[in-house]
Amino acid sequence: MSARLCVEVAVLGAGPVGATLACLLAEAGVPTAVIDHAALPPMERPEFDGRAYAIARTSREVLTGAGVWARLGEAPCPITRIRVSDGRPGERASPLTLTFDAAEAEVDAFGWMVEARHLRVALNAHLPHIPGLAVFAPAQAEIIRRDSTGVGLRLDDGTTLNARLLVAAEGRASATRERAAIPVTRWDYGQDAIVCAVRHDRPHEHVAIEHFLPSGPFAILPLPGEGGDRRTSAVVWTERRAEAERVWQLDRDRFARELSRRFGDHWGRVTPVGLRWRYPLGALFAHRYTDIRLALVGDAAHGIHPIAGQGLNLGFRDAGALARLVTDAVRAGRDPGGPDLLAAYQAERRPANLLMLAVTDALDRLFSTDVAPVRLIRDLGLAAVDRMPGLKRVFMRTAMGFSPLGALRAA
Ligand SMILES: Cc1cc2nc3c(=O)[nH]c(=O)nc-3n(C[C@H](O)[C@H](O)[C@H](O)COP(=O)(O)OP(=O)(O)OC[C@H]3O[C@@H](n4cnc5c(N)ncnc54)[C@H](O)[C@@H]3O)c2cc1C
Repeated sequence: MSARLCVEVAVLGAGPVGATLACLLAEAGVPTAVIDHAALPPMERPEFDGRAYAIARTSREVLTGAGVWARLGEAPCPITRIRVSDGRPGERASPLTLTFDAAEAEVDAFGWMVEARHLRVALNAHLPHIPGLAVFAPAQAEIIRRDSTGVGLRLDDGTTLNARLLVAAEGRASATRERAAIPVTRWDYGQDAIVCAVRHDRPHEHVAIEHFLPSGPFAILPLPGEGGDRRTSAVVWTERRAEAERVWQLDRDRFARELSRRFGDHWGRVTPVGLRWRYPLGALFAHRYTDIRLALVGDAAHGIHPIAGQGLNLGFRDAGALARLVTDAVRAGRDPGGPDLLAAYQAERRPANLLMLAVTDALDRLFSTDVAPVRLIRDLGLAAVDRMPGLKRVFMRTAMGFSPLGALRAA
C-alpha cells in the first residue's frame, strides 16, 4: 500500500539552500519534507576536492539555526582581512590595493571559508535525524495539484505528499519555476571560472585576496589546511571563455607554472592540490519569487557572478527569511502558503537580491576593462573608498553578508 504524508512545507531540491531550509523548518518544529531527484552523495569520507565557499557572517547565523554549523567536520577558516587590488595582466602586485580589516569593523571575521564537502557532509548527516523531517532522495516528484487549497505531490515510490507550501530550491534550471511560467532574465558573462586549491610555502594569515584583472577576477581564499597549518588556499580564476579553455587544457606542470605567475613571489612555492573545476559564468533573476503556494529560493530565484562570493549567501538569507515567516505563521495558526506570507517573503528578499546582482554585475563590468579612462576612474574610486571610513564600512558590512542597502543605512 502506498504511503500518504501530510506536511506543512515540501522542499524540492536538497542542495545547500534547500537542505538548509528543510533543517531550519524542522528544527523549529514545522513538519517538512525535502525531495531531491539525485541521491544525497554518500560522503562519510569524501576526498579533498578543492571546492569551497566563502560563508558570510550572516550566513553563519542561518547555518547555526539549522543545526549545521556545529556539525562542520573541520573548523571553518576565518577571513580576517580582505585585500582588493586592481591589476594588469602579468603584473605581480598592483600599485593600488585596498585592505579591509575585520578589526576595523569590530568583528573577529568577515566570514569563513568552508570546504564544499564539509558543508555537504554536515547537511546530509543532519537531515535524516531531525524529528518531523522526511527526506526522499533519490526520488522523482510529480506535482499533481497546486491550488489555493494546497499542494499535492506524487513520488515515484508511490508516496503521496500533501503540503500547504511548495518551495523550489532546484538551482538555476528549476523545472518547477518553468512549469509555473515564472519568467526569468539571464545573461552570459562570456567567462568561465576555474576553481582549484593550492598549497603554498608561506601561510595565508586568513587574508582573502581579490586581484581584479581585465579578463576577470583572480581570487585567493584561505583554507584551514591540514591541522590548520594555513598553507592551503582556494583559487577562483576567472578568464574569458577561449582563454579558460586553454588554461583548462594545460597539463599539471604548466597549469602550476601559470598559477605561480599569478600568485607572485610572496607565497613561495605554489602547488595545485585536489581537482580542477570549471564553471561557465552567467547571471539570472526570476521576475517573481512566488506563485500560488509556491516560493523560489536560492539559485532557482537568482544567480549572480561569483566576483564577491555571495551567491550561496543570498540563498541562505532566502532560507532564513522564509523559515522565519513560515514558522511564525504555523505557530500562530496561520496558513504558511497563503498569499500574504508569500508577498512578505518576496518583498523581503527580491529587492536585496537584485541589488547584490546589480552590484556584482557592475563590479565585473567595471574591472573587466583595460581602457585607460575607466582604469583611472576605478583607481580613484578605490582610493576614495580607502579614505572614506563610512564608504569602507558599507563594503565591509556587505562582505559580512548584509545587503548593500542595509549596509548603507547602517554606515
Ligand atoms: C565558481 C563559483 C564559485 C562560487 N563561490 C561561492 C562562494 O564562495 N560563496 C557563495 O556564497 N556562493 C558561491 N557560489 C555560488 C553557489 O555555488 C550557488 O549559489 C549555490 O550552489 C546554489 O545553491 P542551491 O542550493 O540554490 O542550488 P544547487 O546547488 O544548484 O542545488 C539544487 C539541488 O536541487 C536538485 N534538483 C534540481 N531539480 C530538481 C527537481 N526537479 N526535483 C528535485 N530536486 C531537484 C539538485 O539535484 C540539487 O541537489 C559560487 C559559484 C561558482 C560558479
